[in-house]
Amino acid sequence: MASISPSSPRRLLLVLGDQLDYERFVPADFDPESDLFWMAEASEESTHVRSNKHRIVCFLAAMRHFRNHLQKEKIPLLYHELPDGDSALGGWLAQDLNRLKPEIVSVVQPGDHRVEQSLAEACRDAGVPLELREDEHFLCSQQEFEDHARGRKSLRMEFFYREMRRKHDVLMDGKDPVGGAWNFDKDNRESFGKQGPPTAPKTRGCTPDEVTREVIELVDRRFADHPGDLSQFIWPVTPKQAAEALDQFIRECLPTFGRYQDAMWTDEYTLFHSLLGSPINLRLLDPRKAIRAAEQAYLRDDAPLPATEGFIRQILGWREYVRGIYHLRMPEYRDLNFLEADHPLPDFFWTGKTEMTCMQSCLTQVLDTGYGHHIQRLMVIGLYSLLHGVRPGEINDWFLANYVDAVDWVTTPNVVGMSQFADGGIMASKPYSATGAYIDRMSNYCKSCKFKPKESIGPNACPFTTLYWDFLDRHRDRLANNQRLSMQMRNLARLSEEKLSEIRKAADSLRRPS
Ligand SMILES: Cc1cc2nc3c(=O)[nH]c(=O)nc-3n(C[C@H](O)[C@H](O)[C@H](O)COP(=O)(O)OP(=O)(O)OC[C@H]3O[C@@H](n4cnc5c(N)ncnc54)[C@H](O)[C@@H]3O)c2cc1C
Ligand code: SF4
Repeated sequence: MASISPSSPRRLLLVLGDQLDYERFVPADFDPESDLFWMAEASEESTHVRSNKHRIVCFLAAMRHFRNHLQKEKIPLLYHELPDGDSALGGWLAQDLNRLKPEIVSVVQPGDHRVEQSLAEACRDAGVPLELREDEHFLCSQQEFEDHARGRKSLRMEFFYREMRRKHDVLMDGKDPVGGAWNFDKDNRESFGKQGPPTAPKTRGCTPDEVTREVIELVDRRFADHPGDLSQFIWPVTPKQAAEALDQFIRECLPTFGRYQDAMWTDEYTLFHSLLGSPINLRLLDPRKAIRAAEQAYLRDDAPLPATEGFIRQILGWREYVRGIYHLRMPEYRDLNFLEADHPLPDFFWTGKTEMTCMQSCLTQVLDTGYGHHIQRLMVIGLYSLLHGVRPGEINDWFLANYVDAVDWVTTPNVVGMSQFADGGIMASKPYSATGAYIDRMSNYCKSCKFKPKESIGPNACPFTTLYWDFLDRHRDRLANNQRLSMQMRNLARLSEEKLSEIRKAADSLRRPS
């Protein structure tokens, strides 16, 4: 459905669903007489991977609020609402290029290579040039990242992060890091212990307004067979809601964030995490504001340094770093498969029906709510997939479909690189491999599980522990030169041939589809 529309625009300014930056969307040379903003709700964006309903609502509700803002500001806009049938961004654009015949199409660098290709194809077919504008939402431009990467044998987040701290003067004391160290993780990452988590704020997130409620109804009807229980929707879809979510996090969670960053507990899914991934990725919240709000809390003595530094590192370090890797290495990156993993994704990833309590808990949580925190992603779901040997492309699509904050530029390096080691070590210096003992240490999942985390064979064997030894065994040669795995490999060498043979059999049977 079209809104305000100059009949023959000279320039079409596309705004994609994750580019809703209220402060930066108007280019400096904008001319309301000849420029027309263009947005489209395409069903393909929710179906090319079978997206969680929470993720779809986040995008559509945020886009409709952004549209309403433009209309209120009387900014010329052509907006296509989700039609009843199938629709694709490239298809919408091709039709409009044919009809409106603009001289040029302009868009901020898309964060999904597939989308960039489809827009480029539509423009090429119509003979209209496509201009890609620099994405100013990020603190590190792609050129700066390329300069950082040039000539380095390996890229490590830690060195990049230090450069960013210096350049943006965050938590700095002159030339030195505040507190005398760049990283305080030795003081973070405790488990909860037997008593469980301290009381975390129970009411998190935002109450949907009328626009969002309409989208919830639409998505529940239109994508009825997609995962997600929309009876509770808490995600920010406007800059105001995003600012409130940041404020709540800084007041109520940041002081405890670092300490329990890696801990997990049954039925406690938000804990002390910020839940800001989705509003930041949609551009509703400027990452600079999140970084400065945390720094200010530390300076006011409202949050300890390890928690503040840990939070800032995630945004100023990891988030910028994975984005740099994505644009540096795509399109090949998505198809990497260093470990030659070739098993299909087990069906229970889509139902949560498994006897492994940790997987059951983390999977049902994300299938219902669209959220899981970093360690649930990396050290439970991602770890299981790595040890099982799931094809990286399949597990990547599963992650891309199911998390409210999922966009290709951030999901793909985290899944393909960090969690599946499919890039052979570009993102991480070693595979994140561990037995069930790690999960036992960081959660209460094992207490109610029929399996025993320390056992690798026999009726009570923990599948993680069985698959862990089998993983090291299968990749002995490939990983032999990785110094950071030397202790794990030495432990493997201590297993008897009889035990290894039992483990291999048990691992094969775990991989067999039930
Ligand atoms: C397998 C796997 C898949 C992931 N997929 C995504 C994804 O699709 N989208 C996404 O935004 N993040 C992803 N991450 C990174 C991270 O897990 C999430 O950003 C975080 O859990 C989001 O929850 P939160 O907002 O409560 O974050 P918090 O734990 O409160 O962290 C604060 C913020 O730091 C940033 N951040 C933290 N870690 C990372 C990281 N590794 N990469 C990029 N940004 C980071 C995010 O903006 C996050 O909101 C993934 C990690 C793994 C291991
Ligand atoms: S015993 Fe193994 S499968 Fe069960 S919850 Fe613990 S780690 Fe998960």
